[in-house]
Amino acid sequence: MILVTGGAGYIGSHTCVELLNAGKDVVVLDNFSNSSRTSLERVQQICRKRLAVVDGDIRDQTMVEKVLNEFGCTAVIHFAGLKSVFDSVTSPLDYYDNNVIGTHRLLRAMQASHVKRIIFSSSATVYGDPKFLPYTEDHPLKPVNPYGQTKFVVEEMLRDLSASDSTWSIGILRYFNPIGAHESGLIGEDPKGVPNNLLPFVAQVAVGRRDRLNVFGGDYDTPDGTGVRDYIHVVDLAQGHVAALASLEQPACIAVNLGTGRGYSVLEVVKAFENASGKPVPYEIRPRRSGDIASCYAATDRAEKYLGGWRAKRNLETMCKDHWRWQSQNPNGYDG
Ligand code: NAD
Ligand code: UDP
Repeated sequence: MILVTGGAGYIGSHTCVELLNAGKDVVVLDNFSNSSRTSLERVQQICRKRLAVVDGDIRDQTMVEKVLNEFGCTAVIHFAGLKSVFDSVTSPLDYYDNNVIGTHRLLRAMQASHVKRIIFSSSATVYGDPKFLPYTEDHPLKPVNPYGQTKFVVEEMLRDLSASDSTWSIGILRYFNPIGAHESGLIGEDPKGVPNNLLPFVAQVAVGRRDRLNVFGGDYDTPDGTGVRDYIHVVDLAQGHVAALASLEQPACIAVNLGTGRGYSVLEVVKAFENASGKPVPYEIRPRRSGDIASCYAATDRAEKYLGGWRAKRNLETMCKDHWRWQSQNPNGYDG
């Protein structure tokens, strides 16, 4: 039985589908602070299999221990946390509380229950300003905002834990830019309020919920002047977790990038989305967003080696088509 914290969220729900499809038993622990129960109903509809759901908070150590023991969990995939860079700047204590203290309590509960296998959702933001590209996992870690700091602190906590007790198996997965949705169009990203990230914003423009996209910066040192990122299909990302679970049979603590290794500019994404949706995406070039970098993309060699040959397979066209299917079938998200 695998405990999936934050399993009702965007990446968690897609990972639950891949886990169930791989024949794993799953229990989701989520406080639904940024998700809907409907996502888990849809996961079960897609797979025609059941999963268990516990409504609770990872900071409740006693409850987490009870869940680990009662369900006989053997590993944890840990998605639960807050993820907005913008909010982390205005509310850093909430981010340290949820992401750092939450993970600390979860690890305590795992230690007490003798469950010593965990996959942690980290982020490419731990690298900070690129000293070189593509980012290899050995690139210096120097996050530039409180959200990135919380991911870095948790990574350090995990490395210290592994050094103190070599029986832990710890996979730190550093995600690049997950986009897209399950091909059924039944699950996808459902941000609350105005989206901070590019794809949900573009999709909401295409579906008519917003007038136009603000493109943050047209004067970067990139081929067309707009920011370049390594977008990865969320289903590829989810499958990377199933592959990581298999690699974690052996005790270790290893950080692995999950990206495609290829970057696309904002304007390339806009064009691809227009093609996929058949809808116009009007945009306006605006000043740069503070804290943004010009380009960001992953070195993928370690992932291929460590994750038993896993690699991202889906291209930008598929990412946009699948994202659009979800957005057009669910214009106002799960509960709209
Ligand atoms: P999400 O907000 O959709 O999912 C997170 C889930 O965790 C939500 O269902 C939320 O209700 C739950 N949650 C939050 N705090 C909790 C708590 N204290 N106890 C129990 N449940 C809690 O986010 P996502 O995009 O699916 O991201 C999942 C993880 O991946 C996060 O840790 C995020 O930081 C990390 N990550 C995301 C991205 C991205 O672009 N989406 C990139 C890099 C890393
Ligand atoms: N971006 C943009 N308009 C938006 C949101 C994002 O131009 O409304 C740009 C942003 O400047 C960056 C790219 O899109 O170059 C990806 O941004 P996102 O916030 O999705 O990811 P991150 O910056 O965290 O990699």
